[in-house]
Amino acid sequence: MSIENCILSIDQGTTSSRAIVFSPDSTIIAIAQQEFEQHYPNDGWVEHDPEDIWASIQNVCKQALEEAKNKGANIVAIGITNQRETTVVWDKKTGKAIYKAIVWQDRRTAPQCRELKQQGHLNTIRSRTGLLLDPYFSATKVSWILDNVKGARQKANAGELAFGTIDSFLIWRLTGGKVHATDVTNASRTNLFNIHTLNWDQELLKLFDVPASLLPNVKECTDDYGITCPSAFGATLPILGVAGDQHAASIGQCCFQKGAIKSTYGTGGFLMLNTAEQILESKNNLLTTVAYTIKGKTHYALEGSIFVAGAAIQWLRDELNLIEHAFETESLAQSVEDNHGVYFVPAFAGLGAPYWEPDARGAIYGLTRGTTIAHLVRAALESVCLQTFDLLKAMAEDGVNPQQLRVDGGMVANNWICQFLAGILEIEVERPKIMETTALGAAYLAGLQAGIYQSTQELTLMNQIESKFKPQMPPKIRQQRLKGWSAAIQSTLGFNA
Ligand code: ADP
Repeated sequence: MSIENCILSIDQGTTSSRAIVFSPDSTIIAIAQQEFEQHYPNDGWVEHDPEDIWASIQNVCKQALEEAKNKGANIVAIGITNQRETTVVWDKKTGKAIYKAIVWQDRRTAPQCRELKQQGHLNTIRSRTGLLLDPYFSATKVSWILDNVKGARQKANAGELAFGTIDSFLIWRLTGGKVHATDVTNASRTNLFNIHTLNWDQELLKLFDVPASLLPNVKECTDDYGITCPSAFGATLPILGVAGDQHAASIGQCCFQKGAIKSTYGTGGFLMLNTAEQILESKNNLLTTVAYTIKGKTHYALEGSIFVAGAAIQWLRDELNLIEHAFETESLAQSVEDNHGVYFVPAFAGLGAPYWEPDARGAIYGLTRGTTIAHLVRAALESVCLQTFDLLKAMAEDGVNPQQLRVDGGMVANNWICQFLAGILEIEVERPKIMETTALGAAYLAGLQAGIYQSTQELTLMNQIESKFKPQMPPKIRQQRLKGWSAAIQSTLGFNA
């Protein structure tokens, strides 16, 4: 028996690459995953070898295609989703990168960002790109490569180099160097892209000293990105959908309406709120970004990040040895009546939006002789939900009040988190049946472009929710928790050792 109209979704993440084959009803037919090495050559530097990434993509695609073929799947298109902001510069003639990929987490360009801020460029950058001036985004990473690799500037000026985020690099390699393109969501994370005109911004290119000849062609998320050459992984397939990982997760969760919001809880937490055609400039340090362009229609989004979500659980497990496995946190949190007055602010690497205090450090408050491991674990889980509350509050102050939160990521296997989240946010929390929302989003995009799906409404009708968590927290307890959290945050911000 054959399964027609399947899609190969390529999900190139920060620590691993995955390939998933979906059938049109979004059943997973085949899946393959491969981790690759992280390089930390200096304090605050994080790099990937583009050749490792490429090899991992070739491997997982081959494996997934083989498995899918054995199950009778007929694959018709490819969708790509990827870690955002990570920057590659390569030689157009050889296709080889001239330096390792500088990863989104890399902080090496903090001095350049500080200098640009001191020169008064923040407001221009904010209003045009929707972003902040931070090493996180690609622009200063590109100019760092051009300034630090011998001969790179000359080559760039001679039009011999190409820049791309990981999607672009993969498209180049997959099409055998025929296509140099990116999608609008990845472009919107570079600090070089004007989200109003949906074009590269000439003034920003000058400001960051990036020659226009390096840039990929910007396409819609549903678009024609060329055909894979057989040498990539043995198949000729059209690439028809591309989006950055958080955007793809949002699409996989069918957040197509204004006010629809998803939150992904893995190592960190990422919230994305659809604001439809409205470009909302946040007054609370949230980022404004392109949610997607699908079939000519662009939606925008507000984005907020939680730096430490699951990482707090990893810390309890690996550094404090309080637990053996992450899943134990659910029964531990349930085993105590309340948090016993304990608040945990996991600001290991500073506080993100809405506080934006990179120098803040973590703290645990309210300890007594009666505090147990269960209380500490519970406070860690509560902190993820309370950080989400802060982001939703910031979004409300910016003018949007979501009625429901769609969650995904490794942490939401934990029912206790989902229930506490619903209570503290006072909105319904929905967990989808297919947890591979990022890969699914890329598959949806390719499926829309291939004509397998006719519209985002059709996808919304197909969307399956596994569980709904309704708010059940007594108002008095909720108020008390929010008050305690706010005090803990204020103390953390005030701490200066
Ligand atoms: P990433 O994609 O960032 O690697 P995942 O989505 O795979 O992350 O989620 C893994 C994270 O979720 C880890 O930090 C882990 O500690 C946490 N986690 C996994 N299962 C649970 C659970 N049942 N309860 C709480 N946290 C969990």
